[in-house]
Amino acid sequence: MEIDKSNGPEAEFEQQRHRMVARQLAARQIVDTTVLDAMRTVPRHEFVPSGMRDKAYDDSPLSIGHDQTISQPYIVGLMTEAVEPKPTDRILEIGSGCGYQTAVLAEIVEKVYSIELVPELHQMARENLERLAYRNVELRQGDGSRGWPEAAPFDGVVITAASPKMPSAVIDQLKVGGCMIVPLGSGYAGSQELLRLRKTEDGLMRESLGDVRFVPMRGEIEKD
Ligand code: SAH
Repeated sequence: MEIDKSNGPEAEFEQQRHRMVARQLAARQIVDTTVLDAMRTVPRHEFVPSGMRDKAYDDSPLSIGHDQTISQPYIVGLMTEAVEPKPTDRILEIGSGCGYQTAVLAEIVEKVYSIELVPELHQMARENLERLAYRNVELRQGDGSRGWPEAAPFDGVVITAASPKMPSAVIDQLKVGGCMIVPLGSGYAGSQELLRLRKTEDGLMRESLGDVRFVPMRGEIEKD
C-alpha cells in the first residue's frame, strides 16, 4: 500500500515552509536561490521541541530550552546568505543550538563543522541531524571561543551567539577571501550589531548588516 502524503501533516508543514520563504525571506530581500531552496527543504519543525511544532514556521525565534533559542527564520536566511556559501566550502558554525542553521548550511556547502557549549543542546543537535541523515556535518561539544583549530582554515564562519569582542582566534582560522558573520555586542541588555568581516590580503573589511538580539556567547571569550 502506498502512503498518500499529499494532504497529511508533512504536506501542511511543507506548505508553511514555502509560505515562510516567500513572506519572511524573499519579501525581505533574501535573493540567493541556494539559500531560499535550502530553507524550503530543511524541515524546521523537526528541530523545535515537539510541543512547539505548530509555531515552527512563525516569524519569530523560539525557545529550545536551557535559556537558548532557535533564531528567527529571517535571521538564519540573512546569516546564511551573508557568508556567501558555495558547494565546495567548509564552514564553521559556533553555537549549534538545535542544529537548524547547521542543516541549512549543510544543504548548500560541502561540510559544516559546528560547536555547541551546552551538552544537552549538543546532544539535541546530534539527534536531529542524525535522524534527518545529514552526513556532511561534524559536531563537537565545547567552548567555541577559540574556534576549531584542527579543522581550520575555513571558507566561512557563522557565529550564532553575541560575541562581546572580536573573536580574534577564530578570525585567524578564516581563509583569505572568506567571510565571518558575527553578532558583536554585550549581553541581553546591550545592543548588538550583526557584522560581516571579510578577510582580504590587506586586512579585515567590516560591514554592518543591522541591529540584532542574540543570546550571549559564553566561555573564554567573556574573560579578558
Ligand atoms: N544556530 C542555532 C542558534 C542557537 S542560539 C539554531 O539554529 O538553533 C546560540 C547557541 O550558542 C546556544 O545554543 C548557546 O548555547 C551557544 N553558545 C554560546 N556560547 C558558546 C560558545 N562559547 N561555544 C559554543 N556555543 C556557544
